[in-house]
Amino acid sequence: MKNLVELDKKHFIHPTTSIQQQQEQGPKLIFEKGDGIYLTDVNGDVYIDAMASLWNVNIGHGREELADAAAEQMKKLAFSSTFSTFSNEPAILLSEKITSLAPENLNAVFFTSGGSESNDSAIKLVRHYWRIQGQPERRKILARRRGYHGVAAASTNATGIPEFWDMAGKTETEYIHCDPPYNRTTEETIQSMREVIEKEGPETIAAFIAEPVIGAGGVIMPPEDYFAKVREVCDEYGILFIADEIITGFGRTGKMFAMEHWGVQPDMLTFAKGVTSGYIQLGGVLISDEIHNVLKEKSKGTLFHGFTYSGHPTATAVGLKNIEIMERENLVENSREMGELLLQGFKDIKAKSKHVGDVRALGLLGAVELVRDPETNERFSPEEKVAPSVIEALHQRGVISRPVTYESTDIICFSPPLNMNKEQIATLLDKLADAIQEVESNL
Ligand code: PMP
Repeated sequence: MKNLVELDKKHFIHPTTSIQQQQEQGPKLIFEKGDGIYLTDVNGDVYIDAMASLWNVNIGHGREELADAAAEQMKKLAFSSTFSTFSNEPAILLSEKITSLAPENLNAVFFTSGGSESNDSAIKLVRHYWRIQGQPERRKILARRRGYHGVAAASTNATGIPEFWDMAGKTETEYIHCDPPYNRTTEETIQSMREVIEKEGPETIAAFIAEPVIGAGGVIMPPEDYFAKVREVCDEYGILFIADEIITGFGRTGKMFAMEHWGVQPDMLTFAKGVTSGYIQLGGVLISDEIHNVLKEKSKGTLFHGFTYSGHPTATAVGLKNIEIMERENLVENSREMGELLLQGFKDIKAKSKHVGDVRALGLLGAVELVRDPETNERFSPEEKVAPSVIEALHQRGVISRPVTYESTDIICFSPPLNMNKEQIATLLDKLADAIQEVESNL
């Protein structure tokens, strides 16, 4: 164990991690095993994975069927190219399967290996679309503050969290941001969207990108009428709408895709994470019939965009099996039902706590927000480290969750595997109530 800690510090640069913290304290946990909603570390300590790791292990850990699907495909054909019209059976079948589940106007898919690649691809594809439509000046991407879209070149700039720009500097000027629907009415939020569009010039904007429920920015739910209004504004200005369903896709919110909650059809939809429940890297961009028809008609010569692993046979075979399991076990419905219990539990905790403000959940994507005064929504100061203390108290109780503290918020996020049962939800809620009580008593 000592050896692993030292080797980690010496050789492993972790993503989205404090390098200093790693050097001082070593890795917080070294995981060894996963089973259902549980993770076990090398010391044998067991944790509830209340984040489904990175919002992605939707069908839970330890599914041998997925290992078997990967092994079978690897033995037959682990990899072959999909460039230059080469193809393979699992990629073809998965494109058919996903498009049969997605909003009805989305019937073609471009595969990637993850979320950032999917959003970068969507952004390049909308720009390509406008070029072949004779409007090459439509290049800007309108996104929202607190939105998270990944860390590749385009997606970092679309992300609306300045901490991610500061790391290497924001180099692009073609990304603009408006207000998210957070502590604001639909009217105020839509007004902010309109103002940015008018200021920048609608004819220079290629697309609006948004997560149906903001994830990494703090699990922020849109008001019921928000996306219908977004669609109206996009249509009015001729702007395409990209739904980033990288967290929300594949059952997370109690629907296969979250846009179904509001009956709004995006022009493109990006996915990753839940498509394979994280068992192997896979993502993609779904494209509307209208855009696909324009590409078929007007995209001349080679489309100079493609990743080595676009349409990877093993990854897509795992994707097919993952969706088969989700359907067989009704996990989307379970997410909806368990999500209702989770939300009710959050409300009960709020009723007994001094500092719990807004609580929210849609399916198994939820959050509890801590504030100094729930009446006025006055926040704690960052020095008080309220959310990190709750996360630590949960950790002590064997629960892995995640804090969001941008702009002095104290948000505790939950995104557990979708096969969680009632007893497990009750245990999670008990531990959360206990953790919050301990932190409140020290404030
Ligand atoms: N979009 C959203 C909404 C995400 O939550 C994430 C990852 N958390 C990404 C994009 C980027 O995905 P990846 O980390 O797989 O590149």
